[in-house]
Amino acid sequence: MNNKTNRKQDALDYHSKGRPGKIQVVPTKPTNSQRDLTMAYSPGVAEPCLRIADNVEDVYKYTAKGNLVAVISNGTAVLGLGNIGPEASKPVMEGKGLLFKIYADIDVFDLEINAKTPDEFVAIVKALEPTFGGINLEDISAPTCFEIERRLKAEMKIPVMHDDQHGTAIISGAALLNACEIQGKKLDKIKMVVNGAGAAAVSCSKMYLSLGVKKENLVMFDINGLLTPDRTDLGDIRMEFATERKDIKTLAEAMKGADVFVGLSAGNVVTPDMLKGMAKNPIVFAMANPDPEIAYDIAHNTRKDIIMATGRSDFPNQVNNVLGFPYIFRGALDVRATAINEEMKIAAVKAIAEIAKKPVPEAVNLAYSTTNLKFGRDYIIPKPMDQRLIIEVSTAVAKAAIDSGVARKVITDWDAYAEELRT
Ligand code: NAP
Ligand code: MG
Repeated sequence: MNNKTNRKQDALDYHSKGRPGKIQVVPTKPTNSQRDLTMAYSPGVAEPCLRIADNVEDVYKYTAKGNLVAVISNGTAVLGLGNIGPEASKPVMEGKGLLFKIYADIDVFDLEINAKTPDEFVAIVKALEPTFGGINLEDISAPTCFEIERRLKAEMKIPVMHDDQHGTAIISGAALLNACEIQGKKLDKIKMVVNGAGAAAVSCSKMYLSLGVKKENLVMFDINGLLTPDRTDLGDIRMEFATERKDIKTLAEAMKGADVFVGLSAGNVVTPDMLKGMAKNPIVFAMANPDPEIAYDIAHNTRKDIIMATGRSDFPNQVNNVLGFPYIFRGALDVRATAINEEMKIAAVKAIAEIAKKPVPEAVNLAYSTTNLKFGRDYIIPKPMDQRLIIEVSTAVAKAAIDSGVARKVITDWDAYAEELRT
């Protein structure tokens, strides 16, 4: 067997060994005696039921709701695997549950649902509001995902976030702030080319505009080429990114003189010649998975002055959503936020960017078998195992929720909160 076959078999064994799957439910209260059980279930359980019936907010006091997130998918856009259906998406959703738990101690029920239309999807998820403290939408194809998220956000009083859109926008937004700082570029001056016009590209581009990029300096391509106002196949959401520029048609032309290339499209669609055309000190986020828009080594051999990020863990600067979603939900749950709003997302971007600029704790170097992680071209965003993330990002998100008026619970002792997060 070759290495690749071995790896595939290892992955199958990992999932099937022992009890199949990756997660289970564990009681949090004593269950040792008959007395314990009479409290856990009937008759003891009636008391909290009545309290909640009296005051529905007490559901947060007497049940697991406040620490429980639903990871929900219909399996229509799973990883890079496409529309493989809800059952086939379950390993991914269980995996996401596992990450929520180990990084932020958030409990997850993964829900894979047979719901293709926005109406079906929205009806099911809305009906789940009593159970959950928050909703993480996952791997739903564009453009349906936009409508589903918009409607659920409007109609639900708990935080809803489609992580494929906003998680990527937040992490790559942090990467963009730091890359611009290192390369000596100003966000309101940079010329940006976005290749891809799907869920991730659209939401990343919106975030970059919020961070200061000028709309007239951003051009976007989909598989049919440049987005222009005369195209009839775009729909409202993509049309927002249509350019008035008349001097460009192709990706190669657009990349001439561009400061930033953002790829959320497909592997190997950018050539070395295109990179050569970019401005001095270019920033290239080639995030198509598993193969980036241009291979890491080719890009670095072509441009010595490049800062590059990809979606891959085997190169520096991995844009990994796990830097965001556990802590964004942690902060939102801890102040019982009714939403994850723009203010909270921007707070997360800035907190993540700031961490990378501070000296790296020894434990992080050790975890990645290195000694020299230091803010610079090969380290523009923190590493997933950095313990500072839970404190800095959750706190920033919780504070932004309070300041923007969506928190239903206020934290005043931030030192005590940080201590709680640390343990
Ligand atoms: P998506 O909704 O399917 O969007 C893909 C977009 O790319 C579509 O707009 C498609 O055009 C366009 N496209 C495909 N091939 C192209 C080409 N050769 N040239 C120009 N545009 C092309 O998918 P998504 O969720 O946005 O994800 C896109 C890619 O980014 C995937 O590879 C995904 O794995 C990756 N991604 C990475 C991260 C990360 O690194 N953290 C996060 C999210 C996504 P049409 O609309 O015309 O079909
Ligand atoms: Mg996903």
